[in-house]
Amino acid sequence: MPNFTLNDDVFTKAAELFGTPLYLYDEKGIRDNIKRLKDAFSWNKNYRQYYAVKALPNPEILKIMLQEGCGLDVSSETELLLADMVGAKGKDIFFSANAMPMHELKMARERQAHINLDDISDIDTLLSFGKPPEMLCLRYNPGGSFSSENDIMGSPGQSKYGFTRKQLTDGLIKLKAAGVKGFGLHALLVSNSKLPDYYPRLAKLLIETGIELEKETGVIFSYINLSGGIGIAYKPEDKPSDIYGLADEVKKVFSKYGKLDMPLYTELGRYITGPYGFLIARVIHEKDIYKRYIGLDACAANLMRPAMYGAYHHIHVAYKRDMPHSTMYDVTGCLCENNDKFAIDRMLPKIDMGDLVIIHDAGAHSFSMGYQYNGRLRSAEVLYTIDGEYKLIRRKETSEDYFATLYF
Ligand SMILES: *Cc1c(COP(=O)(O)O)cnc(C)c1O
Repeated sequence: MPNFTLNDDVFTKAAELFGTPLYLYDEKGIRDNIKRLKDAFSWNKNYRQYYAVKALPNPEILKIMLQEGCGLDVSSETELLLADMVGAKGKDIFFSANAMPMHELKMARERQAHINLDDISDIDTLLSFGKPPEMLCLRYNPGGSFSSENDIMGSPGQSKYGFTRKQLTDGLIKLKAAGVKGFGLHALLVSNSKLPDYYPRLAKLLIETGIELEKETGVIFSYINLSGGIGIAYKPEDKPSDIYGLADEVKKVFSKYGKLDMPLYTELGRYITGPYGFLIARVIHEKDIYKRYIGLDACAANLMRPAMYGAYHHIHVAYKRDMPHSTMYDVTGCLCENNDKFAIDRMLPKIDMGDLVIIHDAGAHSFSMGYQYNGRLRSAEVLYTIDGEYKLIRRKETSEDYFATLYF
């Protein structure tokens, strides 16, 4: 079930203060969720969650992560600079990148961040900067298939990430010879997984692979990183991931291999903030042709997941939650693209012009995937604070912002 903890007065007030479309994030929801996650994994003394910055890269959100004891998982120059802005230092940062520009790897090295190498060729790049770090993480791609209900990243054999099994051996031998002392093993094989056994199965794979590699190469694995990928309940019939159950199954795997003391890291993004973000939009158009359409002042440029993945986002109409959902609508934006639809054939209460519509589960991979197609600009972002205040944490873009990079 999507998150319904905030009432419609909160959304209405935010819309009055800042206009629509608008992203609103629930600070209390985010903080409580992190506390639960840390509690669930507290059996591991050195557990640390690194928030995947790309999911919601607003510094006010990142500050919350650091205050709650989390680090940041970053993968670009700009994300490294965001980490600097909020005071993340050294091992507060986990740097993973793919097809990585050399200077970004160098920036991560200068900050003494955890570095997660994605490819065997990254080793030479890293060694070209001089003495390598004491500790390095390698990203593993086991190939074949790792089942998932979501076709974005279901089969590692088709995914562009990570080292093959053989490359892990070769890479470790090279890095050991270059003086690296300890290693971490990382993999991210599934996205938005609601399968309770994803993390446990991944933990087993990484621990077993680590043990094999230790035997083959004589290196020592100091930690494993289960990365992100835990899903959330986008649909009303979805059950939320049971984080306590899942953490307990991971514990059993660690225990079976006598690794309870080995540090465990995660890089969750969606799971942490997804349910606690809302896109608030106003109904500005209705249209009756072969189908019945409701037009919003938000569009796919604000939230592209439905257009890009056919993703379901729950929608409710403010103050009409309990009315019969008796009318079928396509809920659309204003782009000149027919996939600009937040919902297709969705049963909703009868909608009137000017109604406020709340699109749920927009706290991760939502604002951050926004773009400016059709000259549609990014909205503002507001943090609904623990004290019940509405804090503007990003203003909306203006046409001047859009023109700012042009030479004309
Ligand atoms: C995207 C990403 C994550 C977060 O994924 P979620 O599905 O949001 O949990 C974590 N680590 C890396 C390296 C990523 O690219």
